Amino acid sequence: MNLHLNSKLPHVGTTIFTVMSALAAEYGAINLSQGFPDYDGPAALKERVKHYLDHGFNQYPPMAGVLKLREAIAAKVQRCYGASVSPESEITVTPGATEAIYCAVMAIARSGDEVILFDPAYDSYEPAVTLAGAQPVRLPLAPPHYRIDWQRVVDAITPRTRMVIVNSPHNPTGAVMSRADLLELERLAERHNLIVVADEVYEHLVFDGVRHESVLRFPALAARSFVVSSFGKTYHVTGWKTGYCVAPAELTQELRRVHQFVTFVGITPIQHALADFMQTHPEHLDELPGFYQRKRDLFNTALRDSKFKIHASRGTFFQLADYSAISELPDRAFAEWLTKEKGVAAIPLSVFYETPPKSRLVRFCFCKEDETLRAAAARLCAL
Ligand code: PMP
Ligand code: GLN
Repeated sequence: MNLHLNSKLPHVGTTIFTVMSALAAEYGAINLSQGFPDYDGPAALKERVKHYLDHGFNQYPPMAGVLKLREAIAAKVQRCYGASVSPESEITVTPGATEAIYCAVMAIARSGDEVILFDPAYDSYEPAVTLAGAQPVRLPLAPPHYRIDWQRVVDAITPRTRMVIVNSPHNPTGAVMSRADLLELERLAERHNLIVVADEVYEHLVFDGVRHESVLRFPALAARSFVVSSFGKTYHVTGWKTGYCVAPAELTQELRRVHQFVTFVGITPIQHALADFMQTHPEHLDELPGFYQRKRDLFNTALRDSKFKIHASRGTFFQLADYSAISELPDRAFAEWLTKEKGVAAIPLSVFYETPPKSRLVRFCFCKEDETLRAAAARLCAL
């Protein structure tokens, strides 16, 4: 049958994360590709979910999210970033950060607008911009530090520029934006009346004593931003797909107009459980940087005798590695070969670009048990 479909996303295939995880499973490879832990979330958190499942918390929560979870988020934002946000009018719980990002873009960007993204970019941004009918404008981040070149941003801004999407700590590079970066973003956003989507899902995964510069620390910037986070990363439960968006009331109102017709709500017992756990275990957040820095260091130290070249990741649970001393293959072919022939799955970097550079880089995920990381590193050192 020919339905004469004119795809709205003609260049989009199945995400690389699904493709590489499936290949890893097919070949029995150690899966350092898609970002998810091979350990469970805290037992006390799971216990609370079971409690709420068994005690009748199984119907729709409020559209904006369970209030006590929004209150716990407000308390966290105050404690971490010194910002006062209203649980009623400025916080929305969403089924994953992905939905929050999608709704924020959909709520603001429209046909004729331009939205600035930075390459390499997380793969969900551009499809959201395209479906909103707006034009993505992709600016490169230069290796090895992947800092934003603000002069390029200034040069790219036109009267049509409506939105900028930033991501810090940054997937896939591990780069972390500085206070100077945030001040520059604030200045430009104010001058050109831009709306910002700040993807901060790795907000608690920053290393070497560096401070996460949340947009929420900068009042004039926060006043025009959607700040998005994900409980999946913070509590080792990516499959629970629960995140949130903090935005001023005016922006939150627009976000909710979309959110209520995309998913309407997130899952009830999970929200109650997260609220309890946030209240009873505030120390969990303080322990995360050390927990992941140790894993990064274990992995990178184990790779010291390999032919991979590495600049230690500054945040997230991802590590880029340059394989140019090992193979001439393009990165996608290299990642497939590594998975099929050598038993370690990784993500090729080129998929995060509009125009991929000629670099030879793959992304390894280190949110894995120490034995998993050691076993993978042993195979990688043998290359
Ligand atoms: N943004 C980035 C940069 C991510 O790495 C992820 C991880 N999957 C997401 C958003 C989506 O998070 P969630 O699973 O909560 O939708
Ligand atoms: N964010 C995860 C990663 O970068 C994957 C999320 C997904 O599979 N969509 O690996």
